[in-house]
Amino acid sequence: MKYELPKLPYAYDALEPFVDARTMEIHHTKHHATYVEKLNAALEKHQEIADVPLETLLADLTKVPEDIRTAVRNHGGGHYNHSLFWKMMTPKSGVPSEELSKALINTFGSVDGFKEQFSAAATGHFGSGWVWLAKNKEGKMEIITMPNQDTPLMQGKTPLLGIDVWEHAYYLKYQNKRADYIAAWWNVVSWDEVERRFSA
Ligand code: MN
Repeated sequence: MKYELPKLPYAYDALEPFVDARTMEIHHTKHHATYVEKLNAALEKHQEIADVPLETLLADLTKVPEDIRTAVRNHGGGHYNHSLFWKMMTPKSGVPSEELSKALINTFGSVDGFKEQFSAAATGHFGSGWVWLAKNKEGKMEIITMPNQDTPLMQGKTPLLGIDVWEHAYYLKYQNKRADYIAAWWNVVSWDEVERRFSA
């Protein structure tokens, strides 16, 4: 077994009441665990790429043998995205640092303007997928939406902050009210993690 389910950096109930404990537990122990399991099963068929970092495979799926390409895209993407997602949330959210705020203001007009645009993209994204704040090759910030478990790496971009808008991320607590989940989610965003990734 090459890939393993990472431990959460906090308890399942740590993000209450914004993200409920039951959703966190199922999301982590069932959904994320299944992505890990199926990624490992796919890679078992091709030991020649077993040691290539997952980021490298996702950034150029043409390097992945065709018979496991979709599995690596979906389950590798799922493992990668969720591993980031847990770190991008925290019970101690705080506010963006001065440096990060400046970058957000330069790109989106204001921090609130960024949050509005990001929320609108997340609310409007049809079906399952993710919305990301990403850094492009020129170092500029962009909001991008990706279907399924696709990642910004597939567009040569670095993910800075992402929200999972698959129904499994919110349905137990919010049912069809995705906008309410998104509004609540801002309370648990780890600005320190966004800053760390932006400055890297
Ligand atoms: Mn998910």
